[in-house]
Amino acid sequence: MDPSLQQQTVFHLTGKRAHAGLDAVDGLRPALFARYRDLSKLRYDFPLVLCDSPQGEFVRSLSAVIDGLVRGLVPPGLDGEGLRRQVLRLEREIRRMAAAGAQGSLAELWEQAIARLAREPGGAQLATVLAQAGTALDVGGEVADCDRRLPGRLVGHAWRVAQQRKARRAHTDINALIVRLNDILRADFVRSAEGRRPASLAAALGGAHQKLFDFDAMSQLLGRAPAAQRLPDARRRRIESALAALRSQRFFATPHGAAAPAPAAPAYAFEFGRGGDALEAFRQRLPAIVELVKAMSLAALEADGRYLETTHDAFFEAFDERALGGRDLDMFPDYLVTMDGGREALDQVTLMELLSSGIPVKVLVQVDDILDEGALGDGHYAFGVRSTQIASTAVGLTDCFVLQSTSSNLFQVRHSIARGMAYPGPALFTVFSGASAGADRLPPYLVAAAAMQSRAFPAFTYDPAAGPGLADRFSLEDNPQPNADWPVASLDFADADLQRVTQPATFTFLDFVACDARHARHFARVPHAAWSDDMVPVADWLSQPPPSGSDRIPYLLAVDDDDVLQRVIADDRVVQAALRCRETWRRLQELGGVHSSHAERLLERERSAWDAQKLKEIEAIRATAAPVAAPVAAGAPVVVPTEAQPQAAAPPVAAERSKDEPFIETIRCSSCNECTQLNDRMFAYNGDQQAYIKDLSAGTYAQLVEAAESCQLSIIHPGKPRDPNEPGLAELLERAQPFL
Ligand code: SF4
Repeated sequence: MDPSLQQQTVFHLTGKRAHAGLDAVDGLRPALFARYRDLSKLRYDFPLVLCDSPQGEFVRSLSAVIDGLVRGLVPPGLDGEGLRRQVLRLEREIRRMAAAGAQGSLAELWEQAIARLAREPGGAQLATVLAQAGTALDVGGEVADCDRRLPGRLVGHAWRVAQQRKARRAHTDINALIVRLNDILRADFVRSAEGRRPASLAAALGGAHQKLFDFDAMSQLLGRAPAAQRLPDARRRRIESALAALRSQRFFATPHGAAAPAPAAPAYAFEFGRGGDALEAFRQRLPAIVELVKAMSLAALEADGRYLETTHDAFFEAFDERALGGRDLDMFPDYLVTMDGGREALDQVTLMELLSSGIPVKVLVQVDDILDEGALGDGHYAFGVRSTQIASTAVGLTDCFVLQSTSSNLFQVRHSIARGMAYPGPALFTVFSGASAGADRLPPYLVAAAAMQSRAFPAFTYDPAAGPGLADRFSLEDNPQPNADWPVASLDFADADLQRVTQPATFTFLDFVACDARHARHFARVPHAAWSDDMVPVADWLSQPPPSGSDRIPYLLAVDDDDVLQRVIADDRVVQAALRCRETWRRLQELGGVHSSHAERLLERERSAWDAQKLKEIEAIRATAAPVAAPVAAGAPVVVPTEAQPQAAAPPVAAERSKDEPFIETIRCSSCNECTQLNDRMFAYNGDQQAYIKDLSAGTYAQLVEAAESCQLSIIHPGKPRDPNEPGLAELLERAQPFL
């Protein structure tokens, strides 16, 4: 065996390297990262602006904010080109500052960036223009880059925005009840002797109009009137007690800018660092929750004059926490528990108890390290085990909203985060920050993106409010190429002859592990002179591991500091970990309806049944067809049919259309637009304005089924799916059945 190949084989099988021949991988990075040397030069999602306006989106990307500003401020075409460039330059400066750790609001960083640019030649004039442009910004809020603090900041911000909305609604309701109960008591007081005194009358009328009235005369006049009926004592006491409860509630702080008397006690806090503390706080506050719900229900009845002592006295007497319903709790603020960091902080038992306790809680589990070094001794990477276990277990609770994502993807899943915050039940957000101790030479954004690309930390959402079935609730769609084992991108490089080469490059779990310096011993760089055909790309190796005893060595592509392409081989331990990672990913795919073994089995069964049916039909046609002329013997005269001697006509055979093929009964179409609105590339009208399937490949089987369901004439027949890997096929086939 070639000595260098022998060295590679020994390293692959044992992880041991000879003194020479194989190099360390220090300073290498995955080849696909070559173009991301300096993120601040790229225009991408980060940094983000955590918007402080209660309206609109809670987070926007700085690029989108700048695009909006440019659209509103800069004239189109060449006239505005100068200003556009200057504003984009400022955006780049803010991105640079945020990447270097600068913190503050967008307005503050805007000013600081201007000050930095002003120090450059010609900067004074530029500063004036940019300061003027800044006055047109319609978004304010903290700027957040993709760093270790991002999960807490962004999820916490989304939670606060959701709670502020809740608080505003609750304040409106509570204040309205207070006003109405006050009116009842005031009207009663005016009917009393005390209320008819001149001073009381003056106080009741308010300051602005007091000088216009003679309250002494008014008091005498009212005093001569027959005594009015007063509120019964019991009712007055009830109203006063409800008013006291409404005024002293501590669940909702007065919204910013709202007029309200100073509260007797500070509002409760709802942010916790430990699940046990949140549970304890909820339990302690339960009597106060009962009191407020009771007071609001009672106040509403009293304000409408619908309180019946015979019925309601007993009801409110017995009112306790058992009478609280889901809608009652929905009104109250959600608890936010942030579990940040390592294993010590993560008490899984308490977490599950919290998520299944029925209390309105939103939990953020931040994961900083998914390559668990503690488990490496026995050769197993416990990559993401804790976090993925947590998220999967929470999915098993069935009524808990679950979102798993990396921080690089948080902006993309912002709508899912908002849905989780609005979900009337527990929600779990598990986020990998990318701030791994072993990968600190790469920015957290790249590490987090690598974790998601490599399936080490896939993104998914489970939304119990999205529908009854798993196909509605579980989604993997945020992952790159969710149908594949590993995503494939295009890699451009110059070969030895300086010719440009473009080739597909797969990003696998090994590329992610190779970013982590703690695991450098599992990889070795092979000098260019030792490259051989026995080295196979790791994706090929993983999809079809060679038989044992083979000389094949899996390698991945990396680049050094000079962007020179390198081949890196991996030892068997890390390759086995990649296979386990792929199995975990495949289980998630099944949950998401991708490569569903149930659907594939169902599809196969349907295919076999259809084949058998077709065979039967063909045999039936053959049996009833006119006798077929016997084959003509070689050399026998051939009889050519003439008009006078016509051939026997074949019996009419119904035009055959396969149930597998989608089609529309175009002739019956009423041109209602339903299907064309759903996908106007897939469905189109012919010259008679009747629909037909124009391009089957322009849509999904799901759209075909949806169109069939929405066609009021039931003339769309979706046939069988073309893509056996389309998500949710089992359910789609069932829905399609009535239209086949
Ligand atoms: S939905 Fe049915 S009726 Fe309406 S346009 Fe399409 S095929 Fe025609």
